[in-house]
Amino acid sequence: MKKISLRFLQTHTNLADVMDQLSPDLLGEGYNKMPFQLFVEAVEQVPIAISITDKKANILYVNDAFSRVTGYSQEDILGENESILSDKRTPRTVYYDLWHTISAKKVWRGTLCNRHKSGQRYLSDLTIAPMLNAQGDISHYIGMHRDITQVYESEKRVINQKLLIESVINSSPIAMVVIDDQDRVILDNHNYKALVTDLDKGEPASYFLQLLRLEMGDLWQQIQSQEQGFNNREFKIEGKGTRKTRWFSCAGNWFVENEVNADAFFENASKQYLILTITDITRQRRQMEALHIQSLKTLMAEDERVRGIRETLLGAMHQIQMPMNQIRAAEQLLRHKGDEQHLGLLNSLQQIQQSGEEAITTMQNCIPEIFQTAIIPVNINQLLHEVLLLSEQRILGSGITVYWQPWAELPSLLGSETRLRILFKQLVDNAIDALSAMDTGERRLKISTSSDTDLVCVVIEDNGPGIPLEKRAKVFEPFYTTRPFGGNQSGMGLVMAKEIINQHKGFIDIDPDYQNGCRIKISFPLQGLSASGDHTC
Ligand code: FAD
Repeated sequence: MKKISLRFLQTHTNLADVMDQLSPDLLGEGYNKMPFQLFVEAVEQVPIAISITDKKANILYVNDAFSRVTGYSQEDILGENESILSDKRTPRTVYYDLWHTISAKKVWRGTLCNRHKSGQRYLSDLTIAPMLNAQGDISHYIGMHRDITQVYESEKRVINQKLLIESVINSSPIAMVVIDDQDRVILDNHNYKALVTDLDKGEPASYFLQLLRLEMGDLWQQIQSQEQGFNNREFKIEGKGTRKTRWFSCAGNWFVENEVNADAFFENASKQYLILTITDITRQRRQMEALHIQSLKTLMAEDERVRGIRETLLGAMHQIQMPMNQIRAAEQLLRHKGDEQHLGLLNSLQQIQQSGEEAITTMQNCIPEIFQTAIIPVNINQLLHEVLLLSEQRILGSGITVYWQPWAELPSLLGSETRLRILFKQLVDNAIDALSAMDTGERRLKISTSSDTDLVCVVIEDNGPGIPLEKRAKVFEPFYTTRPFGGNQSGMGLVMAKEIINQHKGFIDIDPDYQNGCRIKISFPLQGLSASGDHTC
């Protein structure tokens, strides 16, 4: 038995009694039958710093581990107060709580800042248990502590790193989110949180994951299993009500983290996470769109000019054709009569007819050509959106309220983007003209798209004066217009619209059941044109 143990036993109390008091639960039922020396050796050798004090915390016994942790040998410290270890950085309230607890015969556990014999500070994870005598009074205290400085430092370092990562992520102008393999959000930043309220799409991560999976199809699984990541996946979120249309660009990277729970202690287990970044590119897209609309305006203006010339010439040819037919009839009548007295008139008629035909041929040759355009997949929602932007000035100027209801997942249609744009522009312009003629009431223009397995449908509806029932069939005839004569309308707009729809194997109808204005329904078969078959339109 070591010197200190003997001294302790000689001068103070019986360690077996102390053990009795200490923790019968811990020692178990058979401990009384165990040799006393075994208890002494156990306390001596246990790798936790153990001290036994009197009621005033004067140290009566310390084990080897105590000396190793504190730097004080047993000779140094016996008879000293535990406060020798106090660094005085520990707030007084902690000591107060410590003493308040142990004086009430309860076990206290906490962390103190201790000072090593060398003067170096360390953090002590300390448990103090009161030891009671046969009368149930406190006779001693037993303290058990370990140096947790390194554990604390590592924990703090991890926390600091997490805080650093969080502040870097938070200061990023991009929305960032970490998602686990169950699509649950593990970590996010301020910008991501802002998206939750801004977008009104529930959890934005789930929404964008759905879009990404839909867009990438099988590729998603492939890049996920290879942890390849993705970039620049752009999505447009249509505005609704007061919310404006917005564009986002998504990028993602997968990473694998080792599990930290007890199950994974002996068996390595890992989990895959996705870091998803969502960048709001609305501003850039708006600028691009503004440029695009500008160039479209130029193109459309040129197209309108060409169409204007065509329609004027066709109209003039149409008008000349009627008197020409009459002249031809008169000439044939005279020739048939063989009346020599009208020979001069016959010659004049022939000359008029000839110069009339020459004029028609000249006009025919002057009709500017309309160039054919390529057949490509066309996003009708995008096209209608562009048409609304192209007509924005007129819509605003006429005080028209637009109700734009695009079908969220409208499939692309194979067709001529330019021709279809002209078609919708014509129909929207017609609606604006009709609404502008209204004297009172709200001017409403409603445009909606929809789709089923075979068709893409567009409905353009205005609450203007509408087209009278008897005139509905005629509006698709050349040079027919419901507008007062002398306007700049030649009556060819709907003819051209119908021609474009025919080219796309579609249908146009004026809804006979709609009484509050004009509702035009257009539908296109999804399989109407094939990119490989009909190359131009
Ligand atoms: P102190 O004057 O010692 O005490 C400060 C306050 O503690 C007092 O105002 C009072 O509220 C309370 N207090 C002190 N003694 C008693 C008492 N006998 N009864 C009721 N209340 C009292 N401290 C450490 O800093 N590090 C340790 O590792 C440590 N281990 C301990 C182990 C044991 C078994 C015990 C019983 C105590 C231990 N202490 C330890 C506490 C220590 O005894 C001191 O109370 C503490 O260090 C504060 O010392 P101080 O000189 O600043 O103030």
